[in-house]
Amino acid sequence: MKQIPLSIPHLSGQEARYVTEALETNWVAPLGPNVEAFEAGMRAYTKTEAALATSSGTAAIHLALATLGVTTGDDVFCQSLTFVASVNPIRYVGARPVLIDSEEETWNMSPAALRRAMIQAATRGRLPKAVIVVHLYGVVAKIEELSAICAEYDVPLIEDAAESLGSTINGRMTGTFGTFGIYSFNGNKIITTSSGGMLVANDPHLIERAFYLSTQARQPVLHYEHTEVGFNYRMSNVSAGIGRGQLEVIEDRVAARRKIFQRYTRAFDMLDATQYQAEIEGSRANRWLTALTLPGGMEQRDQLIIRLQQDHIESRPVWKPMHLQPVYRDVPFITSDGIDVSGRLFAEGLCLPSASQMTFTEQALVIRSVRQGIVEDVRRNVRL
Ligand SMILES: *Cc1c(COP(=O)(O)O)cnc(C)c1O
Repeated sequence: MKQIPLSIPHLSGQEARYVTEALETNWVAPLGPNVEAFEAGMRAYTKTEAALATSSGTAAIHLALATLGVTTGDDVFCQSLTFVASVNPIRYVGARPVLIDSEEETWNMSPAALRRAMIQAATRGRLPKAVIVVHLYGVVAKIEELSAICAEYDVPLIEDAAESLGSTINGRMTGTFGTFGIYSFNGNKIITTSSGGMLVANDPHLIERAFYLSTQARQPVLHYEHTEVGFNYRMSNVSAGIGRGQLEVIEDRVAARRKIFQRYTRAFDMLDATQYQAEIEGSRANRWLTALTLPGGMEQRDQLIIRLQQDHIESRPVWKPMHLQPVYRDVPFITSDGIDVSGRLFAEGLCLPSASQMTFTEQALVIRSVRQGIVEDVRRNVRL
C-alpha cells in the first residue's frame, strides 16, 4: 500500500524547461539567468526591493545575522517553538540564543513574552542584536505587534518565513516586515528547488553586503583579495531553474493546502477540545502543514501517530521547542507569565499530511484513521 506522506515536492511541469535551458547553455554555475530570474520573481511576488538566492534557508539566516554584524558575546532572541534551523545560525556566529515562548492563538512568538524579555535585557544593559520570529507551519505570527516592539527597542527583526511563503497579513507577505526575511525551498516546503533558500530585504545595501559575504567576501580587485571571512552560500543556476517553475504555481499550492486544512477542520468538528493555529484578523495562512492539538496530551498523540503509521499515513509531533532540546538546555527561556505554552503545544500537537497533490480519497483515509484512532483511545481510557 502506498504511503500518504506529510509533505512532498509537487512539480508544476515547467521546471524541466528551465533546468534544460541551464544545461544546454552550460549555465550550471552558482550564478546565471535562472538565479537572476528567480530572484526577480521572488522580489515581485513578495514585493520586496532586494533578494538573494541562497543554498538553503539555514544559510539565509546565517547571512542575515552575519550581515547585521552579530558576533561573539551578543544575544539574539529567537522563537522557541520552531525547527532547529532557526536557532543554529545564532551559534554559528558565536552569539547566545535567548528563547522566547509562544502565544496560544498562532503558536508563534508571544508579544507579551518578547516585551518581558526586552525589559529584562534593557535593565541589564544587554539588548539583543536581533530577534528571529517564525511563522510556524505557515501561520502568520502577530508580526505587527512584534515588529513594533523591536522598533521601540531599535533591534533588527529577522523573519523566518521558511514555512510561510505566500502567507499574508493585510495584503503584505510574511518575510517583508523585518530588516530581513528568509524563505526555504527544501524538498518538503510549499515550493522547492530541491534544496535552497532566499534572503529578502527592503534595503538593497543590506542585500549587497549579504551577496558579498555569500560569495567568499571577495574584494573588487583582479586577484583574489579577502579582508573578511565569507561563505559559499549561493544557489546554483540549476536549482533556480526548478524554483522558477515552482514559483509560477505558488498561489495554486497555497489554495490546495488551505483546502486540505478546511477539510480536516470540518471533519474533526466532532472532536472535543481540538485546537488549531488561528489566523489573526486580516491574515491568510498558507497552511503548509495542518497542525492540531489533542486534549489527551502526549500519550494520545503518540498513540495516534502509531495508529496512522499502521494505516500507512505519515504524521509527526509538532516541533519540539528549543528550550527542551538538550543542545539548548543552557540558554535562557522567557515566557509571558511563567506558563510554558510552547511545551504544551509540543506535548499535545500533531501535524497531518498536507501535501498539495493529496487526493480527496487520501484525505478521507487520513480523516477516517484519525477519527478511529481517537475513538479507540477514548474506549481504552474508559476501560481503564
Ligand atoms: C525548513 C526550515 C528552515 C531551514 O531551511 P533549509 O532550507 O532546510 O535550510 C528554517 N526555519 C524553519 C522554520 C524551517 O521550517
